[in-house]
Formats: sequence, C-alpha cells, structure tokens
Amino acid sequence: MDLLKRGQIPPYPQFYELLYSYATGVNPSLNQRVNQIFRDGTATQELAERLYNEFLKSQDANERISNVSERMATRIEAVHEAIDTAMATANAYSGTLQSASGDLGNDMNEAELRNMAQKLLGETRRMQDANAQLEQKLDASRDDIAALQRDLDEVRRESMLDPLTKIFNRKSFDEGLLKSFNEAAGEGTPLCLMLLDIDHFKRFNDTWGHQTGDQVLRLVAMTLKSNIKGKDMAARYGGEEFAAILPETDLEGAIIVADNIRKAIQAKELLKRSTNEKLGRITASMGVAMYKPGDTPASLIERADRCLYAAKHAGRNRVLSENELKDDVKIVA
Ligand code: GH3
Ligand code: MG
Ligand code: MG
Repeated sequence: MDLLKRGQIPPYPQFYELLYSYATGVNPSLNQRVNQIFRDGTATQELAERLYNEFLKSQDANERISNVSERMATRIEAVHEAIDTAMATANAYSGTLQSASGDLGNDMNEAELRNMAQKLLGETRRMQDANAQLEQKLDASRDDIAALQRDLDEVRRESMLDPLTKIFNRKSFDEGLLKSFNEAAGEGTPLCLMLLDIDHFKRFNDTWGHQTGDQVLRLVAMTLKSNIKGKDMAARYGGEEFAAILPETDLEGAIIVADNIRKAIQAKELLKRSTNEKLGRITASMGVAMYKPGDTPASLIERADRCLYAAKHAGRNRVLSENELKDDVKIVA
C-alpha cells in the first residue's frame, strides 16, 4: 500500500499484485519496469493489465517446462537437418574434386579443361551456399537456445518459491538449511534457526475467510523477509508456518531478529481491501534454536519446534529460545 501511495498509482488489483511481486524482488525485470513507472508516473489501468499479463498471469510450471523442451527438440532437429544437408553437399563436393584430380592425370584439351573448371566453380558455389545456410541456421539456433535458457532459468527460479507468498518454499528451505549447516559445521561459525507460527490462524480463517487468510500469509512473509538480510533465508515452512535460517548469528542476535519480526507483525492493523473493514491484528509465536556440534538439520529443527511449542504454551505472541527451554525443563524436573 505504501508503494501505491508513494508512486501515486491507482489501486487497481493488478497493480496491487504487481507491487507485491515488486516488493518480494523475485523478478528483476518486473522491478525495472515498475521503477520506470515510478520515474515516469504513467500508471494507467491498461499498463497494469499489460504488465500483469506479461509477468504474473499464472502459467503452470509443468506446462512451461514441456513447452521449453518441445521447442528445444524442434531446434535440435532443425540443426541436425542442416548439418546433414551440409555433410551431403560436402561429400558430393569431395567426390567432384576426386574425379577432377583423376581427370587431370589424363591429357585434356582446352575445351575439356574449361568444362572441368566450370563444373568445379559451380560445385564450389553450391558448397558456399550450403555453408552459408548452415551458418544462418546455427546463428538462429544460438539465439533461440539462449532464449530457452532464460525460460528454463525462470522456471527453475520459480520452482524454488512458494507460489502464494513468493518467498522460498520448503524444498529450498531444506537445501538452504543443509548448506548453512555444513558451513557452520565446517567453519565453526554460529547458525540459528527460527520457526514462526501464526497464532489462532484457524480462527482468523473461519472469521474472515480463506482468501483474506491468504493475504495475511503474504503479509507475514513480507514482514519476515524485510526483517532479515545478507545470508539469511526466509521460507514458508508449511501452511501458516514460516522459517528463517540465520547464518553467522548467535542465539542472542537471533532472538533480537525474531522479536523485531514478532513486533512488526503485531504492529500491522489489518484492513480488508475490498470493504475497508477492520480485521484487527494478528500475532505470531516463535522458537529459536542454535546449532551445536553433533546436531543434524533434523535435530536443530526439532529443537526450534519445541521452543515454538513452548512459546504457544506460554501464552503465544512471544519468542522463546532454547536457553529458556532448558530453564523450563529444569523447573519441570
Ligand atoms: P495456534 O495458535 O495454536 O497455532 O492455532 P492455529 O489456529 O493457528 O493452528 P492450527 O494448526 O489449529 O490451524 C492452522 C490453520 O492454518 C488451519 C488452516 O486453516 C490455516 N492454513 C494453513 N494453510 C493455509 C493457507 O495456505 N491459507 C489459509 N488461508 N489458511 C491456511
Ligand atoms: Mg501451525
Ligand atoms: Mg498457528
């Protein structure tokens, strides 16, 4: 909403969608175009629709992958054909040269020599033409293959993101955690994991509907993402649960980051866009755990999850770290 205001952009739904994607930064070329709009102030509904169709109209990833592979197959076939033709021409040419060199061994009169030169010239031209055609086809293929490569990169990038919130999905999270884990284990640097679960989200959905709930998930995702930086990684862990991997961060630092996120979520007053109805506020509970030698990614997740569970039990809307968890256990024991 801030971006809409800042750019004096009319609140058409497509612009809202576009600016959400803009804020997530997932699509650099979209961001370039939107920056241009900020500069020029040319935000018409028509432009909104055009950009929406260009960048956001959902297209099934599978459909796109099969489309790319089909185009790739057609391209490869065309290149093979061009090479076959060029080879056939080259073979014919080499045959001509061979028979010419045989003929040259015999005595030839002037007319015969002229005839042979003529024939060689013709064949050479045909050879040149075939080469030029091959070159042209290879050039076209190179451009096409570069475009295909870009499409594939985009599909690959999208496959790493959660479609609703456009932050990393669970699969990327698992990979990211393993990578950070190995770095922490190898270099002895600290690593923290934060898990977040929205409080009473079922109730929110039941009251305001699933679609409004989806918007809240996007809001939480953006709040999470905008409060971390550098090597940190924010992901949607599942349903209404999110995670952040915080490399090179000790427990104390991670608790501060988590609490800032918690406060930022709580600070947002929710309004239903279509009716301006006040929906109140939402809160989230968080658990924070730090890597220690002997941990596996699973054991680290399990500890963060236990902290999250304890935060829920302690009354929700709070951050609980494994230090406090130990205290908890002591008291219970
Ligand atoms: P708690 O404070 O204990 O976490 O309570 P809760 O209601 O948040 O937890 P519970 O696990 O009972 O319910 C989670 C709810 O999250 C249930 C489901 O409706 C909602 N949810 C999960 N995924 C989505 C989603 O993609 N969109 C929407 N709108 N809701 C979702
Ligand atoms: Mg949950
Ligand atoms: Mg919940």
